[in-house]
Amino acid sequence: MFEATGLMVFYENMLALNNVSLNCDRNKIIGVFGANSAGKSTLMYCLSGIVLDIRKKEEMAGGERITIRGKILFEGKDVMWEKPANRAKAGIILCPERRRIFPESTVLENLRIGGYLATAQQAKDTLDYVMEIFPALKRLTNRLGGFLSGGEQQMLAIGRSLMAQPRLLLLDEPLLGLSPAIQYLLAKSIKNIRDQRGTSIIVSEQYARPIMPIIDYGYILENGAAVVEGTKSELMDNPDVKAAYFGT
Ligand code: ATP
Repeated sequence: MFEATGLMVFYENMLALNNVSLNCDRNKIIGVFGANSAGKSTLMYCLSGIVLDIRKKEEMAGGERITIRGKILFEGKDVMWEKPANRAKAGIILCPERRRIFPESTVLENLRIGGYLATAQQAKDTLDYVMEIFPALKRLTNRLGGFLSGGEQQMLAIGRSLMAQPRLLLLDEPLLGLSPAIQYLLAKSIKNIRDQRGTSIIVSEQYARPIMPIIDYGYILENGAAVVEGTKSELMDNPDVKAAYFGT
């Protein structure tokens, strides 16, 4: 369904993504694990197309030169050079790192903004679904985004992405900075989204423990390269992966 091959990104001469290939089948959850600066966000920017916008902005500002290479097939179509808006229309939706909700809009307004591509009926049904999967948001619909806790903001960010009707949802470090209890709760919700809606999901995290139980297949990124890949059990049985990503 989604097949990325040989992705490379250079920020000037710095190789941030080194020949990364990654697949995601329908109805699967794929994990991407890596330390700070391993290239997780750059990979997500590549998959969503945002890297093209960043390159364009840098070019217009006379800033650094960004070089991009690779191929991305989504449902049989090559989307590698499609703008992020076109990829979003096709169903590839990025929920970026550090949430990026609109702090001065209410929860409901944030969600409605996410649904701008949806039909009225889809928006209504998805709003009901977001409230069902994140009941904590239900009593907060009129609260400003900026006054939510970190966990609530992350629920809102994922809810807003769901409003855009993803077929492939890209979650960049959704658990960052949250307490362990909230991390496990959110990981369960992410799995529920796949189970209940059939949404394919690629999720990146620095720390594997809360996310590993919900993935089908995963990749370990180091210095921009995918150095290990495998099923959940293959990764969990790998002593190097355990030592580096499980804190054991
Ligand atoms: P983190 O967990 O800290 O967000 P990450 O795994 O998401 O890290 P990236 O943000 O993709 O990693 O960064 C990969 C490398 O590319 C880092 O060395 C980073 O400093 C560099 N980098 C990222 N964005 C740019 C940019 N716009 N210009 C120059 N270098 C960049």
